[in-house]
This record gives sequence, C-alpha cells and structure tokens, in this order.
Amino acid sequence: HHHSHGGCGAGLVAAGAARVLYPASRAGERTRVPGSPEPSSLPLHSPGACGTEVDMDPQRSPLLEVKGNIELKRPRIKAPSRLPLSGSRLKRRPDQMEDGLEPEKKRTRGLGATTKITTSHPRVPSLTTVPQTQGQTTAQKVSKKTGPRCSTAIATGLKNQKPVPAVPIQKPGTSAVPPMAGGKKPSKRPAWDLKGQLCDLNAELKRCRERTQTLDQENQQLQDQLRDAQQQAKALGTERRTLEGHLAKVQAQAEQGQQELKNLRACVLELEERLSTQEGLVQELQKKQVELQEERRGLTSQLEEKERRLQTSEAALSSSRAEVASLWQETAAQAALLAEREERLHGLEMERRRLHNQLQELKGNIRVFCRVRPVLPGEPTPPPGLLLFPSGPGGPSDPPTRLSLSRSDERRGTLSGAPAPPTRHDFSFDRVFPPGSGQDEVFEEIAMLVQSALDGYPVCIFAYGQTGSGKTFTMEGGPGGDPQLEGLIPRALRHLFSVAQELSGQGWTYSFVASYVEIYNETVRDLLATGTRKGQGGECEIRRAGPGSEELTVTNARYVPVSCEKEVEALLHLARQNRAVARTAQNERSSRSHSVFQLQISGAHSSRGLQCGASLSLVDLAGSERLDPGLALGPGERERLRETQAINSSLSTLGLVIMALSNKESHVPYRNSKLTYLLQNSLGGSAKMLMFVNISPLEENVSESLNSLRFASKVNQCVIGTAQANRK
Ligand code: ADP
Ligand code: MG
Repeated sequence: HHHSHGGCGAGLVAAGAARVLYPASRAGERTRVPGSPEPSSLPLHSPGACGTEVDMDPQRSPLLEVKGNIELKRPRIKAPSRLPLSGSRLKRRPDQMEDGLEPEKKRTRGLGATTKITTSHPRVPSLTTVPQTQGQTTAQKVSKKTGPRCSTAIATGLKNQKPVPAVPIQKPGTSAVPPMAGGKKPSKRPAWDLKGQLCDLNAELKRCRERTQTLDQENQQLQDQLRDAQQQAKALGTERRTLEGHLAKVQAQAEQGQQELKNLRACVLELEERLSTQEGLVQELQKKQVELQEERRGLTSQLEEKERRLQTSEAALSSSRAEVASLWQETAAQAALLAEREERLHGLEMERRRLHNQLQELKGNIRVFCRVRPVLPGEPTPPPGLLLFPSGPGGPSDPPTRLSLSRSDERRGTLSGAPAPPTRHDFSFDRVFPPGSGQDEVFEEIAMLVQSALDGYPVCIFAYGQTGSGKTFTMEGGPGGDPQLEGLIPRALRHLFSVAQELSGQGWTYSFVASYVEIYNETVRDLLATGTRKGQGGECEIRRAGPGSEELTVTNARYVPVSCEKEVEALLHLARQNRAVARTAQNERSSRSHSVFQLQISGAHSSRGLQCGASLSLVDLAGSERLDPGLALGPGERERLRETQAINSSLSTLGLVIMALSNKESHVPYRNSKLTYLLQNSLGGSAKMLMFVNISPLEENVSESLNSLRFASKVNQCVIGTAQANRK
C-alpha cells in the first residue's frame, strides 16, 4: 500500500515540482505568472474557466461577447498553447527532473513518499474519488503490482477522462516509462520464471494496449477540442473580420462624420457671414421701410386729396355733360336758325346788290369827279380867285360839286386897250376835290363803285388831265410808299379783297387776275413783263379770248392771279420799273402813254350755282395837253407832234365813244383807238364809268385846265342807259 502510494507519490512529485516552480499557483491559477500586470485576464487564463467561459455562457450579450472575444484574443492565441503550456511545463520538467527531480527522489526515498503524498494536494484524494472506470480499476490493480509509475500513468489517464483535463501528465509518461521499463522489471522476476515474465509481459502489453486506448481516447478528445478550438477560432476569425469590417465602416463613418463636421463648420461660418450681411440688409430695409411708410402716408394723404378733387371734378363733369347736352340741343336749334338766317341773308345780299346798283345808276353810270392837285413846293403861287370851290345848295357841309375858274383874256384886254375883267367859268361835277383832299377821301367816294365790280358790273375809272396834274398820283399814289399817299389801284384792290373775304362767309368764292399794259402811239406793251422782255415791252396784240367770245385779251401780256395786297404792290413796283427803263429811251414816255390796269374778277356761289364776273379797269390816261401849233417844228418836234396827234386821237375817240354810247348810237367807234378797243367791254351797257379830271392849280396851266374841264363837262352830260349786271 505504501509502495503504491509511493508510486503515486512519484507521479505527484512531478506535480509538486510544478508547484515548486509555481509556488503561488493553485489548480485554478496555474498559468498566472507572479507579479503579472494582467489581473483581468486571470479568470480567462484559468483552464476550467477558459473552456466554460467561451462555450457555456449563453447569457452573455453579443456586445459583451464581442468585448469578451476581443479580450480573449490573447488567451485565444494562447489557447492552442494550452497544450504547449502544459508542454512547456513538461519541457521544463526534464530539466527539473534532471536538476530537481533527483534530489526529490532522494528525498522521497529518504523521507518516505507517504508523508509527502498526504500533505500534498487534494488531487490525491481526487484520484481516489475518480469515477470507477475500467482503466482505473485495472490501473489500481496494476498499480499494486507495478508500483508508483503505473499508478501515475493511470492517474493521468483517469485525469484525462475529465472534460478539461490537465494534459501535462501525458508526456512525463513517455519520459517516465523508459526508466520504469528498463529499471525495475528485469530485477523482479528471476530469469527462469518465464511464465511470470510472460505474465508480466502480457500484463505489460495489456497495460500498453489500455494505455494506447486511453491515449487514443485522449487524442480523440484533444482532436475534438482542437476542432472545437479551430471552429471557435474560425468563428472568432469570422467575427473578427466582421468586426474589422464593422470597425472600418465605423472608422469610415467617423471620417465621413469628421468631414461632414468640417463641412458643416465651414457652412456655419458661411451662414454666419451671410447672417451678418442679411442683418445689415435687414437694417437697411427696415430703414427703407420706415421711409416708405412715411412716403406712403404722404401719398395716401395726396390720394385722398386727389380723390376729393376727383369727386368734385366728377360732379362738375356730370353737370358739364348736362350742360353740353343742352348746348347740343341749343346748337342744333341755332344751326337751323342759322340756315334760315343764311337764306334770309342771301336774299338780303341780292336785294343789296339790286339797290346798290340802283343807287349807282341814280348817281349816274358815267360820273365825273374833278380833282385839283395842291401847289407843289417851288411852284409859283397862283393868283387868288383863280380856282374857286363854291359850296352846293346844302351849304358848306355838303361835299363840293362845283368849281369856278377865272381867267383874264389877254387878247380881249389888248383889243379894248383896258384890262378886261377876268372871265369866270363855272363847272359842276358829281364831285369836286379841292387841293387839300386826301387819297382816302377820294377813295371813299369810289369804294361803292368798285364794289359793283364784285356784284358783276364792269367798272372803268379814268384819270384825265394834262401832264403833271396828278393823274398818276391819283391812280397809283405818291412817291415813297407812304400808305397815306396810296392811290386808287392799291386801295381798290384791298377793298375788293376784304369784301370778297366777307362774301365768302355767304358762300361766295372770288378769284382775281391782274394785268397792266400801256398803250403808246397805238401800240400795246406789257408793264408786267419780266426777264428779257423787261422794259422792252414786246409788242402785244389785243385779241378776242376765243372765237365768238366777247372777252378780250392781250397777247404776250402777263395775267397774274392776285389774292393779297403784297402781290398787287409787287406788280405796281414792277410796272414802275418797266416805265422807268423805257423813260431813258424815250423822253417822258409815261406821260405820253395810257396805262391800263385791269383786274378780272370772277365770283361763284357753288351751293346755289351762281356765278358772276366783271372787270375793273383803272386807266391813267396820257397827258391831254395840246401841242402849240405856233411852235417851229424841228425833227424832234415832228415826232412829238405824231405822239400828240395819236394821244389826241385816242382821247377824242374816247370822248366820241362815250358820246355815241350816251346817244345810244348804233355805231360805237371802239375800233378807232387801241384804248377804246381794249376797254369796249367796260364801257357802255351795264358798265359803270368814272372819270377823274385832274387839274393843275397853277396859273400857267389855266388854258389846259379849261380844256380838261370842258372835256369832262361834256362827258358828265352823258347818261349811258341803264347798267345791267353781267349775270351768267
Ligand atoms: P401826271 O401823272 O398827271 O403827270 P403826277 O401824278 O405825276 O402827274 O403829279 C405831278 C406831281 O404832283 C407829282 O410830283 C405828284 O407827287 C404831285 N401831286 C399830284 N397830285 C398831288 C396831290 N393830290 N397831292 C400832293 N401832291 C400831288
Ligand atoms: Mg402820270
């Protein structure tokens, strides 16, 4: 019994030696190195804990498991070294066995293994409490025979039956067997005891077989464990990869998060900046808003004001509309009234024309006005009483119509030997203008006559008298363009234009065409000639305007339409220029020729289909003075005589024509002179004639004045039938 104990004790010595190596360690703390800084890993290093912890704790949370697994890394790595660990212990064991076992053996042998075993580990009792297995029982039986070595092997084999056995004892077996095999057996059986030896060998073989079986089992277990561990390792590797992937993901996420954070910070900065600018803007806008509100208030008040005004305006407008409507009615009524009035006016106008003509006829179709020009500066003052202007029956307030010329007959005086009393010649005319009479005064008297031309009656006005008596002055006017001195032609035309303008209100439209010719030595020349013909006054012929027409026209003469004073002025200016040019060529030709200004007037009343037309002729006759028959006739005088004869002829023809017309003779000698031929339509019939007799106030001109007055008196006694308006 002791022996077997001793055998076991030898096996336990190894364990005890291990305890010597790891003095502080107990069964559970074997792997703990003294002074290890890893107390947390302590339980994990415990072999029992290690197995149970990983495989048998289903209550652990996955997280904890992960944590645990991470923590387990090291032990896991060491896990395969569970065997090497024990191996390392075993590795060291041979050294110890060499160095330390021997003295122990000696000691064991010396002191007795029993004491050692009893005081040693509870493993020993555990050996006894090991469940009864076949191996054990045999081992126990064998151990009694084979000694401690066998029992040690059995113990280790039994030990290995546990789920987590302490493997280390396995290898010592190998190291322990040889001394056992080589040392004790030969010595116990005598050489002859072959049966015993055989028995021993059989036992030995059986033991070895058992042991092989045990080792196989152990190996199987270890392989299972290894497989488990590998699976575990594999699972852990997978887990690790998963976790690594997870970690990478988490890291990536973290990086992404950081990047995002960075971006967000930048964003925040930007937004802060924007916020500050926006705040500035907001302040500005607020300021503006305040301004706008004020403006709005102002505008609102303005709007209210305007609305008030609008309302008043609308009220005014509505009243105005009513007013307009009433005015429209009124206008319509007035238009009707106007039409009625117009009708009446036209009737009145026609009546006026009739009465006007009657008046003119009563005044005489041939009228003679006598005009005495004033004595010009530098001229001798005539003796008093030479020309007298006795007042008419109505007294001095009446316009003068009478003139007395006193002339002392020298021949009679010489015959009697004593100075004869002056002979007084009295003349009576339609009107007499003494020297002081103005142009306007003269025109006033003929204005009504001129107007007859608009009504359709031909009008002819002559200026008769000796050269220098004031014919041109009367017809065209004085020198210098003084409006006060304007003659009959401009005044008559102005009057016609204005009356035509008035009549246009009654629907009459008038047009005027002017011509101006001179008749010198029975040749007709155009005074309105321009350009190359200017001044030369190329020969003109008097022709009928058309076959069968009574209207006469002067060929090569300009007929200029006129509608205003300015145009008439221009024409008179041109005529004066033409005469002035001619004067240089022939001496005083203007006084030796007749100037005939003619205005063709045509009027029409389109709405009533009325037309009227007549001509106004203003004739500045050639000087009426006679040539003194007693004068010697030189070459120049002969020419002069021919001129004078022509003038006298035409003037006497004019007188004869008037006489013939007055006497209603069948033959009127118009053709006897160019002048009467040209004026034949303005003389006689419905025509109205006015003759100015211009008289010089000078004593030296008394004889000529008397001649003129006698001629005029003869004309004045003529009464040409009743004038008829040329109505077409
Ligand atoms: P005529 O044409 O008959 O030869 P004018 O008309 O040339 O005569 O007149 C001769 C001069 O007498 C001109 O200088 C003119 O200005 C002047 N004269 C004529 N009549 C008047 C008058 N009524 N008042 C002032 N001067 C006149
Ligand atoms: Mg003249």
